[in-house]
Amino acid sequence: PAGPVAFLGLGHMGGPMAINLVAARYTVTGFDVVPAALETARAHGIATADTAAEAVAGAAVVLTMLPSGQHVLDAYRGAGGQPGLLEVARPGTLFLDCSTINVDEARQAAALAVAAGHRAVDAPVSGGVVGAEAGTLTFMVGALPEDFEAVRPMLEVMGKRVVHCGEHGGGQAAKICNNMILGVSMIAVSEAFVLGERLGLTHQALFDVASAASGQCWALTTNCPVPGPVPTSPANRDYQPGFAGALMAKDLKLALNALESTGVAARLGPLASEIYDNFAAEGGAGRDFSGIITDIRDKSEH
Ligand code: NAD
Repeated sequence: PAGPVAFLGLGHMGGPMAINLVAARYTVTGFDVVPAALETARAHGIATADTAAEAVAGAAVVLTMLPSGQHVLDAYRGAGGQPGLLEVARPGTLFLDCSTINVDEARQAAALAVAAGHRAVDAPVSGGVVGAEAGTLTFMVGALPEDFEAVRPMLEVMGKRVVHCGEHGGGQAAKICNNMILGVSMIAVSEAFVLGERLGLTHQALFDVASAASGQCWALTTNCPVPGPVPTSPANRDYQPGFAGALMAKDLKLALNALESTGVAARLGPLASEIYDNFAAEGGAGRDFSGIITDIRDKSEH
């Protein structure tokens, strides 16, 4: 272990990630703004602090797992009467943000940390709550090479794949590019299944062909949006997530921001963002994102 860890944000993902660090004998002090999250953490043997500043004071690593980039920047700089953690931390602390946030915000957070005499790493994850609990997350890491090597053992406790994606912001960039592929491909697979239904194809026949042909992709072969062909996919349990529509909508919004700020002539990414925004707003927020197929079916002419 690299020294004491302050773990801020003990929610769906952060809670189990912190538990895995404690199990691997890291010294962890947790903090969350929601008292119930602190209680759950304590019940799992995680020491907690009364304030973020208290958790950070003696830490070598400050790990954040927060809802958004604004939360991360507010925590680093201070907001709402709370002191900025960059100021509270001892010099040379490694600020490790595992939240999914905008690439620009990640670069800004890293620049602030470095300017304050610290080290910064962005390391968003994929794998969901199941991966967080099992310690099988994938970490996509933006960091200077020496900082990457410093955090790698810790990330390997919480995950099974750790990929260095370049310098500050590289982890967030890889995450949103991947999830843009996923969002677009799930819509394509779902439209194809509904079209197949209209044309009289069985789900199994289309699956058998496409899964072994050029239409093959994760949205089809692992998270298949119709029940039957892949028994473990959320479609077989009435679209219980899995990967919730609200999170897909969030990640596509981050991709959209990046498309706009870079000026890429993308058409499907923005459209997927709009489609998942509507899905989330119309009851899909808590359902698996593959439930988009029921939307397509419902909105089709009869
Ligand atoms: P969550 O809402 O369950 O947890 C976030 C926690 O942060 C909450 O407990 C909240 O009270 C706490 N928090 C907010 N502000 C705080 C502050 N200033 N100090 C301390 N704690 C604070 O969300 P989650 O599902 O755990 O997701 C966390 C991050 O991981 C998000 O950025 C999300 O996009 C990303 N992510 C989630 C999943 C998933 O499947 N849930 C998968 C991959 C990535």
